[in-house]
Amino acid sequence: MMRQYLSIKAQYKDEILFFRLGDFYEMFFDEAVEVSRILNLTLTKRADVPMCGIPYHAAKIYIARLLRAGKKIAICEQVTEPVAGGLTERKVVEVITPGTVAEDDFLEQGSNNYLAAVYCSNKKTEGNCGLDYYAGLAYIDITTGNFFATSFPKTDFKEQFLKEIGRINPKEILIQQSIQSEFPVLKQILSEFPSMMQNFYPDWSFNPDQAEKRLCSAFGTENLKGFLLDINSPEVPPAGLLLQYLEEISGRDISHISGIKIYAESDFVSLDDSTRKNLELLTNLRDNSPAYSLFESVNYTKTAMGTRLLRRRISYPLRSKKEIDKRLDKVNSLFKDGKASAVIRETLSSILDIERLSGRIAMKKTHGKDLLALKQSLNSVIRMGSLIEEKKLNFLQINDEEKKLLTEIRNLLENSIDDECTIALNDGKLIKKGFSKKVDTIKNIKENAHEILEKYLDDERKKTGINNLKIKYNRMMGYFLEVSLGNISAVPDYFIRQRSLSNADRFTTETLQQIEDNINNSEERLIDAEKEVFDEVCTEIGSHHRFLQKLAEEVAELDVNQSFAQAAILHAWTRPELCDNSGLLNITNGRHPVVENHLRAGDFVPNSIELLSGEASNQEDRTIPSFAVITGPNMAGKSTFLRQTALICLLAQIGSFVPAEKAVLSPVDKIFCRVGATDNLARGESTFLVEMIETAYILNSATRNSLVIMDEVGRGTSMEDGLAIAQAVSEHLLNTIKAKTLFATHYHELTRLEHEKIINLKLDVLEAEGKIVFLKKVVPGAAGNSYGIHVAGLAGIPQSVLTRAENLLYMRSQFQKERAGQAESPSGNTAIGSEEKAASSPVSNTLSLFPEEELILNEILSTNPDETAPIKALQLIASWKKKALGEMT
Ligand code: ADP
Repeated sequence: MMRQYLSIKAQYKDEILFFRLGDFYEMFFDEAVEVSRILNLTLTKRADVPMCGIPYHAAKIYIARLLRAGKKIAICEQVTEPVAGGLTERKVVEVITPGTVAEDDFLEQGSNNYLAAVYCSNKKTEGNCGLDYYAGLAYIDITTGNFFATSFPKTDFKEQFLKEIGRINPKEILIQQSIQSEFPVLKQILSEFPSMMQNFYPDWSFNPDQAEKRLCSAFGTENLKGFLLDINSPEVPPAGLLLQYLEEISGRDISHISGIKIYAESDFVSLDDSTRKNLELLTNLRDNSPAYSLFESVNYTKTAMGTRLLRRRISYPLRSKKEIDKRLDKVNSLFKDGKASAVIRETLSSILDIERLSGRIAMKKTHGKDLLALKQSLNSVIRMGSLIEEKKLNFLQINDEEKKLLTEIRNLLENSIDDECTIALNDGKLIKKGFSKKVDTIKNIKENAHEILEKYLDDERKKTGINNLKIKYNRMMGYFLEVSLGNISAVPDYFIRQRSLSNADRFTTETLQQIEDNINNSEERLIDAEKEVFDEVCTEIGSHHRFLQKLAEEVAELDVNQSFAQAAILHAWTRPELCDNSGLLNITNGRHPVVENHLRAGDFVPNSIELLSGEASNQEDRTIPSFAVITGPNMAGKSTFLRQTALICLLAQIGSFVPAEKAVLSPVDKIFCRVGATDNLARGESTFLVEMIETAYILNSATRNSLVIMDEVGRGTSMEDGLAIAQAVSEHLLNTIKAKTLFATHYHELTRLEHEKIINLKLDVLEAEGKIVFLKKVVPGAAGNSYGIHVAGLAGIPQSVLTRAENLLYMRSQFQKERAGQAESPSGNTAIGSEEKAASSPVSNTLSLFPEEELILNEILSTNPDETAPIKALQLIASWKKKALGEMT
């Protein structure tokens, strides 16, 4: 047996081998040591071989824990009956990995469980960005049958790969080996997804020919044209490998995988990884949980299918006005009909995960309760369908034929599966009475053995005329007929004598033997017959998987729409007005969907903004800015305002109502949200480098139709550098890209930029009796004071330190005033629109705890001798000397 173990183990080196031994799965050698440690199991030894085991009926719990620990498990079963003295044959029947699990116990309800594959072509192909070298990414959720693929030019590999992986969050990925050497950055990217299992595959496994064949055979098509693919498509090799991995390596039934959806970056609003994180779309930045995320604020879904679709919608907002409007119309219809909406919500609550249930049924990884759950769900769908029809709502679009099919499937379930069934397939309570003659007969025998024998006895009495004929039972003989001596002469030929006693003879008959056999085996025969019928029912339902999947999609869509309607009703959101490609963003009294939800009702201060991308144009006699510089002290509400603007756009483009009195928006193609000074220690890059990489990405990819949110970017370097870069970046966004931009900054100098498309906004602050009140109101203008010391006081910095800071601040402002007087140009123009000025006036009035010497040194370094007149130079030297001697104080 150990030889058998070792030879099987040799084929499953990367997996933990669950080796079936009777009622246990056993592990041996180092694997036993490791698993006993992970699962906290007792390690035993036999003949010096370490081993540990788990009872097979409790395997699921242990498998779940091993999967969480990032392990793959190969299940090796006994495939022949054990024979005394002989070796039972054993075979690996399935390999379970995080991306291939199908059982509910291992899955998160409202999230997809994706297995992904990535591939880089070394051949130029014609793709969505023209003739280029492309990378292909495919991913599949075996539990639902959702199968997607996309491609992007290899030159964008890092950004696009990171973006997509961040959005789809696969549990496991298959990676083409050579990508590692071609893109050394891969390691870094993968390190950001520590819980994603990685499997590297040699380049030849991504064979386009084989992949195409495999996909065609899975989809039952001649070619892949219907999916907009051909043999040269970069999506084909990774998609093909996924199916191979599922089928051959994991032993999964993939017959329910009926197609693949191909999409391009340009179909959806582009949201890179940092943007998704900074906007806290699905999870928050603090603990990565969904609390305080946008998802949480719109999630009123009632079904797991709806929750999954909502997640996907948030990650993939639409660009097309027409498509967005279609979605909004649907939300609106539910928003307006509160009564229907309430009934729909209630009915949805009784719909279980049709998508996964039908996936499991098709994969034959199911039990009676799953089928009952499907029945209950289909009943609810039918009920809801009538209401929707009656109210003429535009949901659950199924034609008459499909309706008939739906009823047929429901009836099949209703008639076949016993309402009392359990998750066990072998307790004889699986199939309903009246569905299968065979099952009924066996059940009848099992349940009515006594009556059957009685009836038989009755028949025999009548036939033979022996009125005191009896049926008796003993362990030795089983059932037998007993005839008293007086009646022996009436015994017919077909009675087989078995024993003669003094007062009676004992007989059997062929029929009695038959009945006895039936009674004795009825338990096992019933289990077998029920399983057979159950299998047939599953096959029949599995053959309608495509339809059930479509139905699940319709239910999910309805659920997401009612969730949006519910959010809109509960939080007084309004329908956004989408306008064509004008580049307009006009939000009246907008609110932050998450912050508002967590404040007392009425405490959130709404704010408005109007931006128009592109060239300055005179609309209604005014120029609408494209670029807003936002200043204000810390804690004044800048970040909230910036993010709410992006979130309102995003909500509108996923088809939701928005938290605003009114919002007129032209769809954006990309949203960028950058927050300064977020260290990425995992990547080993400095704060500043990260900021610059991210800023470079924006400058290289933003378009006129994008929305750019920059929150305090440029903090990671010295003030001079930071200001210079912030200004240059702003000018590029204003003059070259012309995207709608909100730029919050502590560089007050930026508020002096002069441009017809720029507007200065500040968060209003009320100063009264030495106290500062943040009004959270956005008003035109530039903030004068950053109130850093006030905030430091709020944070509990000791009074002595605050006083010292105030002194320093005062000194600095004196210093600046004096310097400004000296540097005053003849024209009196102090705006930093001119470049020389920008270079020579980098000092901000933000609080800095510098010693005087450093301030003077700073001054010296920022003076340009070539541009300073001799007399001014002498004056400067005199002032520095004065300050150095402490004469200022
Ligand atoms: P800043 O970016 O200027 O430092 P934040 O946007 O982080 O300020 O806001 C500080 C706090 O003020 C937030 O925690 C939020 O709860 C609250 N806040 C922000 N904006 C508003 C608003 N418009 N109405 C009410 N409270 C707000």
